[in-house]
Amino acid sequence: MYAMTVTIEPGHITGQSQIDSYVSRWIEQAVTLINSTDDIGELAAVADALRPVFGAGEHLDAAVTRLNDLLARHGAVPNLHGHPGQSPVLAFHRPDATRVDAWAADMGTAIAMVIGVGQAARLGACEAERCARVFLDTTRNASRRFCGLTCQNRAKASAYRARRAAR
Ligand SMILES: [Zn+2]
Repeated sequence: MYAMTVTIEPGHITGQSQIDSYVSRWIEQAVTLINSTDDIGELAAVADALRPVFGAGEHLDAAVTRLNDLLARHGAVPNLHGHPGQSPVLAFHRPDATRVDAWAADMGTAIAMVIGVGQAARLGACEAERCARVFLDTTRNASRRFCGLTCQNRAKASAYRARRAAR
């Protein structure tokens, strides 16, 4: 008798880049939604629930609790969506889910995947004063601090002024 063991070595999983692109696509969608200044209707409550995971730092546990609640509330569930003649596509909502439930489940799951592999630091919030924008940090060592160049330049300029004033 022998025990059959199945080991999945990350390097041997084909499709890893597709998984990465799935996750980053839905997180970018969440970022767009959270940063949106338009009226996003029912999705506003979803954006509010997702917002705390970005730049959470030591408050990650509380943000994760809200994220778990969101996933349960919107019925997140892995589901292979079939299209005749095509290979099934993995989604995280039932085929009959409402648009809001589907978006909440897919965005929430993508964010959960990033947090679940210890990469919560990649969910960033802009450190510039009076900016509440969030972003997905894809830099090699997760060192991004600002939502964009405008905020980065603004922060640099005010740090320069502060140094000058201190002299
Ligand atoms: Zn900013």
